[in-house]
Order: sequence, then structure tokens, then C-alpha cells
Amino acid sequence: MQFDLRKFITAGARPYHAEFQCDLSAYDYAGARIPQPVTAVFDAQTDGDEVQITLRAKALVHGECARCLDPVTREETVDTEWIVKERDLDDPDFDLPLDEKGHLDVDEWLNQEFMFQIPTVLLCSPDCAGLCPQCGKKKAECTCPPAEQTDAPVDTRLAILKSLLNR
Ligand SMILES: [Zn+2]
Ligand SMILES: [Zn+2]
Repeated sequence: MQFDLRKFITAGARPYHAEFQCDLSAYDYAGARIPQPVTAVFDAQTDGDEVQITLRAKALVHGECARCLDPVTREETVDTEWIVKERDLDDPDFDLPLDEKGHLDVDEWLNQEFMFQIPTVLLCSPDCAGLCPQCGKKKAECTCPPAEQTDAPVDTRLAILKSLLNR
């Protein structure tokens, strides 16, 4: 959805409200995806020489656990509000995705908000134990004996004795 922010600021229009579907399935959020269309709510209203714009959406994020690689689905919510002044429209460092005509790309804005929102590391549960390095199964399911303590310091005297016995 495109929103003519410049016109809205200069014309001082009545409050604007829109509910729209946004397809974010083409984007990659650190390996996670939003496969289903997202319903977003966009509002704009003038307040003196400022415009208050808000964007709200809920999405089901599909990814995989960084430790055990199980599929992870979690709900993420975007609820953000910006105050925009007319001079912001010509500011090259302005953070919202605007074109040179002052049109706000609301879909791209929503995409940016989900980028911030979705954690780069997803876990199936905060205490996921991950995979067993020996059998590759989940640690909770594996029946391997406890790993041998190969990194324990070897008693050097014992090692000498062993090498003598092996001759
Ligand atoms: Zn996990
Ligand atoms: Zn195991």
C-alpha cells in the first residue's frame, strides 16, 4: 500500500484509516519467513503541523530452532507510531521508506518493522538442550552414555607407566 504523506500533511485531511493485506512471503528474516499474508492496520491523523501515523500487524513467523533445528512458529506483533513533520519529507536521512514525491511505502515500512522485531536466533524453547554430538538426536531423546571426559588432564605419571607396559 502507498500513502500520499505529503498530500496528507499539506491538506490537513481528516483522520485516515486503512486495513490492508500485505504479502511478506518473499522476505527473509535471518532465515525465518512469514509465508501467509499479513493483515495490517494503518492510521494517520494530523495534529497541528504534525502527522501521527501508526502501523499495527500480527504475523506468524516460521523458522527453525537454532539449537535442535526443529520447526519453530511464533507470533510477532508490530505496533509502532511515528510523528512526521513536513520538513521530514525532504530529509534524506528520514527513516521511513518515502519516495521523492512524499509517498510512504507502507508495505516496506511493515517489512522493516518485522526485521527489527523478529529475533535473529529462534529457539523452540528457551532451555532447548540442542543435539547430541554423538548420535545427532535431540539430547532429551538420546540414550548415549555420558560423553567420556577426553579433555580431562591426563596424569603424566600414569601415562609413562602405560607406555612402559605397552613395550
Ligand atoms: Zn530446539
Ligand atoms: Zn546421543
